[in-house]
Amino acid sequence: MYKIGIAGAGAMGGRIGVYMKEAGYNVTLIDNWEEHVNRINDNGIEVQTETNTYSVEIPAILSKDVSEKFDLIVILTKAMQAEEMLQQLQDTNCIHEGTALLSMMNGLGHKERLSKFVPISQIYLGVTMWTAGLRGPGQLLLEGEGGIDIQRADGEQDENTKYILNMLNESGLNAKISDDVFKSIWSKATLNSVLNPLCTILDKTIYEFGSYQESKQMIIPLIKEIVLVAQAKGIHLDREVLLNKIEAAYPKETQGLHYPSMHQDLKNGRLTEIDYLNGQIAAYGKELNVPTPLNSMITHLIHQLEMKI
Ligand code: NAD
Repeated sequence: MYKIGIAGAGAMGGRIGVYMKEAGYNVTLIDNWEEHVNRINDNGIEVQTETNTYSVEIPAILSKDVSEKFDLIVILTKAMQAEEMLQQLQDTNCIHEGTALLSMMNGLGHKERLSKFVPISQIYLGVTMWTAGLRGPGQLLLEGEGGIDIQRADGEQDENTKYILNMLNESGLNAKISDDVFKSIWSKATLNSVLNPLCTILDKTIYEFGSYQESKQMIIPLIKEIVLVAQAKGIHLDREVLLNKIEAAYPKETQGLHYPSMHQDLKNGRLTEIDYLNGQIAAYGKELNVPTPLNSMITHLIHQLEMKI
């Protein structure tokens, strides 16, 4: 049976790992948070849903201690932790010559980063619409429904794509193969590059941000900048569609009552994924001669806030 490692078993890695384990797959959670790993091994991982709280027995291990080889490694660290995690896994020889890497992290540039470890034909990129939370070490909060779009990073489809898709679906994760995963990745990154930093800088929920009458005037120029960088990378995004998606998050009935994850990260004294959102857009802009003053400024503002941690 396929050996699956979930590298970065926080909130979202926990969700994917638990669902695959419950479907009978051979899954190991790999993480660097010792208290979390110990608690999972001692008591199982606690899952709280809208209706139920229960525990799932699932092996967890610190990445430095891993000794087995995995056929599939799902990477769900925060974006800034991914390379260090993969380097540790490579150093402990648990990436073999056929190991597939599947990233479902938010942000941009993961294909390039993962290609330092395996050939592109073994890299799969996913975008997930599931959400997940951590209530503490070993304690997951899994509410709502979601889905996953995946595609092999070179756009090809192989037996492994179908096998991974099948495993995700057998696990109830509602996955489908995308014919343009980069468009989905950039669309989600646009949403995250607008609402995450702006709500964080302003210390507002998504609803509070959207309640400002002139919020459109703040986000349209930012979307324009991102669309132009995406275009220079060969990815065609529709400004109107993006604007509508962002505004659809404002109502209290959708995501309005939430503070975006970046806000929560800073509040919890953790660094943010800004360098993989606005920061990566600004870096691409520089490379491709597309001006990105807004994305650069936003990146600096969040770095300034990170200095207060
Ligand atoms: P997370 O912060 O829950 O976990 C990421 C890593 O940080 C894990 O290794 C975890 O063990 C560690 N960690 C978490 N809390 C810690 C603490 N208090 N002390 C020490 N280590 C700690 O991150 P996540 O929300 O699972 O996100 C992983 C990736 O998935 C990110 O790229 C994120 O943007 C993306 N994503 C998350 C969600 C979501 O709803 N959580 C949704 C879609 C995409």
